[in-house]
Amino acid sequence: MPELRDIRHGYVLPNGTRREVLQGIDLKLDKGGFYVLLGRSGCGKSTLLRLMAGLEIPDAGQFEHAGESVGVVFQEPRLMPWLTVAQNAGFLLGSKLAGHEIDLRVSRALKMVGLHDVRDAWPNQLSGGMAQRVAIARALVVQPALLLMDEPFGALDAFTRKQMQDDLVRIWRELGHTIVFVTHDLEEAVRLGQTILVIDQGCFTLRLDLDAAYPRT
Ligand code: ADP
Ligand code: ADP
Repeated sequence: MPELRDIRHGYVLPNGTRREVLQGIDLKLDKGGFYVLLGRSGCGKSTLLRLMAGLEIPDAGQFEHAGESVGVVFQEPRLMPWLTVAQNAGFLLGSKLAGHEIDLRVSRALKMVGLHDVRDAWPNQLSGGMAQRVAIARALVVQPALLLMDEPFGALDAFTRKQMQDDLVRIWRELGHTIVFVTHDLEEAVRLGQTILVIDQGCFTLRLDLDAAYPRT
């Protein structure tokens, strides 16, 4: 499974100085684990997630993985307004697969997130929560071994967020994929995480393995 080794990453600020954001991150991801990266805004959670998604290359260190497919969900759904729900969900598959295989995967993913009935709707007809469900379906159709989620419920109202959290845990139990979930919300971290990793000053400063001690329903 994927492993981060001594990851270091920083940015050059507009005034020319460097800001070191990640200063030695080590993490071995066990298959099927639910990892929460917890920390205050600006501590580098999104940076670490982008490195794992391959959207950015670390200044130093290695992210080793066996080329498993990775799914990513951001805070905003980032749907294409000119595509239907089903077309958005299948968007990342492009023309790599046969049409019937795409249909099958899209149907399965939409059913899993509870949107099968609105597959022909347009993004502007959806609530924020529903749009984010489409974004999750879009990530699931690539059948990711690793699902990366960057504050995916951060923009939702408390009631919808709770529903989505419960649904995500159900999907995770059903599919058995590994999840890395970024949040700055302590309550969300405890509700979801099997392993909680706290980032501060560029490093993990605390690791909590909750599964045995804190079984969730
Ligand atoms: P978090 O997700 O924990 O809020 P980020 O990873 O987004 O933190 O950002 C960590 C720090 O790095 C912040 O100070 C942010 O402003 C800075 N940063 C992030 N991306 C860039 C970038 N592309 N260029 C310059 N600074 C960046
Ligand atoms: P998120 O909602 O995922 O935390 P961020 O605000 O961390 O998003 O980052 C959104 C985008 O803005 C990213 O592509 C990041 O690289 C960029 N970014 C964040 N902080 C800075 C910064 N200080 N300077 C330049 N780009 C930044």
